[in-house]
Amino acid sequence: MRKNNQVNKYCQRHMFSVLAIATQILANVNAATTPAPDFSNDTLTTPVTPINAPQKLTYIRIPGDIIIGGVFPVHSKSSNGDDCGEIAETRGVHRVEAMLYALDMINAQKDFLRGLKLGALILDSCSNPAFALNQSLEFVRDMIGSSDAKDYTCSDGKTPQISAKHRDKKSVAAVVGGSYSSVSVQLANLLRLFRIAQVSPASTNADLSDKSRFEYFARTVPSDNYQAMAMVSIAKKFNWTYVSLVFSADEYGELGADAFKQEARKHEICIAIEARITLKDFGDKIDAVVDKLQPDKEYGARVVVLFVGTEYIPIILSQTATRMKLSNVQSKKKIIWLASESWDRNNEKYTAGDNRWAAENAIVLMLASQKVPPFEEYFKSLNPGTPKFKRNGWLRELWQVKHGCQFDLPEKPFASDGETPKRCEEFVQIPEEFKADDKVQFVIDAVYAIAHGLEKMRSELCPPDEMDKWFSRNSAPPTQCQAMQTIDGRVFYRDYLTKVKFKNIVGRDFEFKKNGDGPGSYTILTYRPRDKRKRGSADNNSDYVEIGNWTYKGENPDGTHNYEIKIYDDKLFWNNSSKPPLSVCSLPCERGYKKQLIKDEQCCWACSKCDDNEFLVGETHCEKCALGWWPNKTRTGCYDIAKKDLQHMEWSSWNSIIPTILAVIGICATLFVIVVYVMYNETPVVKASGRELSYVLLIAMVMCYTMTFILLSKPTATICAIKRTGIGFAFSCLYSAMFVKTNRIYRIFNNKTAQRPRYISPISQVVMTSMLAGLQLFGSFVWLIIVPPATRHSYPTIRQVVLTCNVPDHHFLYSLAYDGVLIVLCTVYAVKTRKVPENFNETKFIGFSMYTTCVVWLSWIFFFFGTTSNFQIQTASLCVSISMSANVALVCIFSPKLWIILFEKHKNVRKQEGESMLNKSSRSLGNCSTRLCANSIDEPNQYTALLSDSTRRRASRKTSQPTSTSSAQDTFL
Ligand code: GLU
Repeated sequence: MRKNNQVNKYCQRHMFSVLAIATQILANVNAATTPAPDFSNDTLTTPVTPINAPQKLTYIRIPGDIIIGGVFPVHSKSSNGDDCGEIAETRGVHRVEAMLYALDMINAQKDFLRGLKLGALILDSCSNPAFALNQSLEFVRDMIGSSDAKDYTCSDGKTPQISAKHRDKKSVAAVVGGSYSSVSVQLANLLRLFRIAQVSPASTNADLSDKSRFEYFARTVPSDNYQAMAMVSIAKKFNWTYVSLVFSADEYGELGADAFKQEARKHEICIAIEARITLKDFGDKIDAVVDKLQPDKEYGARVVVLFVGTEYIPIILSQTATRMKLSNVQSKKKIIWLASESWDRNNEKYTAGDNRWAAENAIVLMLASQKVPPFEEYFKSLNPGTPKFKRNGWLRELWQVKHGCQFDLPEKPFASDGETPKRCEEFVQIPEEFKADDKVQFVIDAVYAIAHGLEKMRSELCPPDEMDKWFSRNSAPPTQCQAMQTIDGRVFYRDYLTKVKFKNIVGRDFEFKKNGDGPGSYTILTYRPRDKRKRGSADNNSDYVEIGNWTYKGENPDGTHNYEIKIYDDKLFWNNSSKPPLSVCSLPCERGYKKQLIKDEQCCWACSKCDDNEFLVGETHCEKCALGWWPNKTRTGCYDIAKKDLQHMEWSSWNSIIPTILAVIGICATLFVIVVYVMYNETPVVKASGRELSYVLLIAMVMCYTMTFILLSKPTATICAIKRTGIGFAFSCLYSAMFVKTNRIYRIFNNKTAQRPRYISPISQVVMTSMLAGLQLFGSFVWLIIVPPATRHSYPTIRQVVLTCNVPDHHFLYSLAYDGVLIVLCTVYAVKTRKVPENFNETKFIGFSMYTTCVVWLSWIFFFFGTTSNFQIQTASLCVSISMSANVALVCIFSPKLWIILFEKHKNVRKQEGESMLNKSSRSLGNCSTRLCANSIDEPNQYTALLSDSTRRRASRKTSQPTSTSSAQDTFL
């Protein structure tokens, strides 16, 4: 469907242009048959009569055996309604002279074309397609009006004669031109109707490669498709992703802009503003471009791609300089032009006045060509009075305009009122000031290509010289064979012109590429006035510095294009900065931020932050890392936290140091108590408190303190196993011993029978304690079998991976439930027996110890669950809690005894058992029942039961002995 539309569009366009030409031809056919100036008698040596102002010379004719047409923009387009504007020196006169020079060179080769001379009919297009079309009718005049006398009859019956004037006019064999694509397109449309081959030395419009529309068109320059590629490569090279585009409303600008847009899209370069300008309205458009540049901002579409006709550029530059108030005082920000090859570096208007500030740093593409020194010598020798000067009437005009002089004035002017008119004859060229047009080589190539085509055609189609003719060649004028007299353009183009291969004037091999185009190769220049450059730098005689080149290398098998771009970084200068200016819509997002495209434009975005645990997928998406993984520094992926930063308790952190200090102090204190107990093993205080259980308690305390080191160690399977069994076991030893102790006292004091309570002997207590603690140990072992100890990674926060044991902490708490039961039981018995004064109120102190333990454990449980995100604090608190439990027990149970042992030694002596003791005991009890007090010492009761059997035996033995002094008698039972 789309293809159909395109075909329709193309057909319509095609039809209209043919219709337009046909109408033009009909309208002009009369005018064309009577051209204003008549140069039929011109020869190479006869001067062309210039047409005096206001009428400008529109063509020149150089006689020859075979005529080659030429169309050049000798004048610019007029802005005031005239056909032609001012004379264009480089693009116009230089190119005309390049063609004449090439013809001279070819004609100078005697054997070339077997002595036939090439002549020329060169027309001025005045840079105007309509005018050029009008002019071009001259090429086909003979074909429109028949010059064959047989077609006419005379009214008087005589044979008609063709006038000599008309007889000399020949149709052209081929045409060199035009320059502007808009002119070439019109010209090609006309010439195809008459099958005349055309070779353009400057037109780069991409459509001209379309051989279904322009069957007889060839060129020595490449299509603009390559130029667009080159421009995009340059933009990419300097990271310019947001540019403006200004193009002229003609075949050159529109197609060039299309090609650029297409190429830019492929490489994700966005167009900020597009301005299609005509010579009439583009002031406003330039305003819009300048506005869009946002001069006060750090970035924006600073680069402006220019695809406009030559004559637009000086106006654009001056408008920009005015609107951006550019002067030699450097403004903060300027446009960087990225201009196509229509930028004429030899045109002084481009850099006149403030234009140079606007042009500064412009990047300009130039078709890769070489200087042609012989041509430059030739041109520099063109001075008024020389024969070659005379043959080109436009040189006279150029002289008049350039030097403000007049020709043919008397040597001594008679007028003395006002300014003396200058004589043009007195102005000669200044060789140092001459700068040849950049496309001179292409003009010469075009002429040579046609000449070589003609030569090949002649050699193939004309019969070989007969011997006599060959000998007489130098004496007789050469003759043309029939095939060369009426050249079939179709055959000439297809079989000869496009197949030529020759060494061109600069010694390079020349041949037409695909579709009759020239090679895609560009030189990249930048404009930097000489006075702003370092002395001694290369290219010192030009304001343009070559900064690189771009060459098309061919098409890849996948259809992509292969090219090479070289930029000489040392030749770049960006307003004293080594970095190219920014031409971007948005600055790159910082690391860790994703792009949020604005209106789906690839180049404009806002930056939004990815979450801390997210990495970037492409530039526009954030994705979460898996648990235990964290984004790497560049945020392009995730790394395994465990490999880099696996956490566990570190000995060096305060969370370890403090519990360690507590544990060490605790162990020392416990060891001290043990030592004292061992030293005073046989003293009443030690004995009365039940030595065995006391040692069990003390060892359990040491175990509790030791647990700190287990908890702070790096988890391994062994450490985990010890942790799971050790803590519970230490507590169960501690609390079962206390429970057995309090329970024993309770049973004795609560014994309502006359029987001595059972299992109150030290052995039974130790056995009971062992059984109770063993139960915990057994449970722990079963648990170890069910869930074998190992380590695992836990993730308290998304950023942390902690090496822990494989059982969750709450499971560990369950294992302590048994200890909790013991604590509760112990507390209950401690409460029940709180008033028993036995062994210096031991149960009271056990009670204190239990209450404190309960408080410690309750607060720890809350603390533990409140700090789940910080395993270090959690572990430290667990260590402290365990140590505190041991501390509490140590302080409450052992400190009163230790005090007596160490500081109140008089209390630590055995007093005489017996009545006095019992009496005192019953007194101190206060609530001593009559039944209790009446009991004899030999009859075991609650009190005597508290003593060990041996003590009791000793007590009964000693009842008759005198009582030794003792103040602590009330406490020993
Ligand atoms: N390449 C331009 C065009 O196709 C012409 C440039 C020139 O004449 O130098 O219009």
